[in-house]
Amino acid sequence: VDPLTWTPAGPPAPACAWCGAALAGGRRLHGRTVCAACGVATTSPWPTPAQLETAYGGAYRPASGRFGGPLDRVLAAARGRLAVRVDALAPPGPVLDVGAGDGTLVRALRARGRQAEGLDAHATGEGVRRGTVHDVPGPYAAIVLWHSLEHLPDPGATLDRAAGLLVPGGLLVCALPDASSWQARAFGARWLALDLPRHLVHVPHAALHARLRAAGLELERASAWRGGQALFGWLHGLVGLLTGRSLYDAIRRPQARFAPLSPRDRAAALAAAALVAPVALAATAAEIVAGCGGSAMVEARRPPGG
Ligand SMILES: [Zn+2]
Repeated sequence: VDPLTWTPAGPPAPACAWCGAALAGGRRLHGRTVCAACGVATTSPWPTPAQLETAYGGAYRPASGRFGGPLDRVLAAARGRLAVRVDALAPPGPVLDVGAGDGTLVRALRARGRQAEGLDAHATGEGVRRGTVHDVPGPYAAIVLWHSLEHLPDPGATLDRAAGLLVPGGLLVCALPDASSWQARAFGARWLALDLPRHLVHVPHAALHARLRAAGLELERASAWRGGQALFGWLHGLVGLLTGRSLYDAIRRPQARFAPLSPRDRAAALAAAALVAPVALAATAAEIVAGCGGSAMVEARRPPGG
């Protein structure tokens, strides 16, 4: 399913997937409705299980890998750095990766001697099984929700449950697209990280912070850069505006593209990316300084006495 051509069809989402408030009368945007109570947008119409199955099949995550070899290795290296950080900041004990995909982070943590397991709704692998935070008893020294919360049907309840599964002093690491970023506003329906219908909620970083504090956690660090996608969001958006082509497809393997791309169109998208790179770099730097980049990353801790 190509997020740019996904056509919403079906009854509107009745309630905010983040806070549960009724959405009737909420501000409508392309494919989503903004909750007046919490500011989070819920994908609406709400996709059916069959629509989601289609959206996660095929090109989204083919067995052959999503990107060319070097980029897949860059992503694996980023997971390795995340594993080092989680291992260093968490107290002793097991780590849970929610939305673990093929288990790259779980393997990186285990390689460091850290007990780790993963949950994923759509994938299984070494150390990764199907399930949600509601299926596990805990407790955990750390729980990672790395670009996974926005894919879940009950993200608010998942965050609350994850906070409750932490040992005192335990660490929660969460990254998701920042719906209040400048790039989200600049590109609107064409923003890379809107990713309809797979993203079911569209969360401003302020709403994420508020929910974590309400769950009793203390925010230790917030970053507009560490969650990734800050620069690529600008590059993809600017290339789309200039050429109508998808830079994201241009860097994916042919079988992982949402829409076919001729070699000529692929070359045009890559050339446009080189052309707009200085603008994208400047916009990214401005966003990071303002504290609202393409993604919001937070590290939050359950108080040691709590
Ligand atoms: Zn809400």
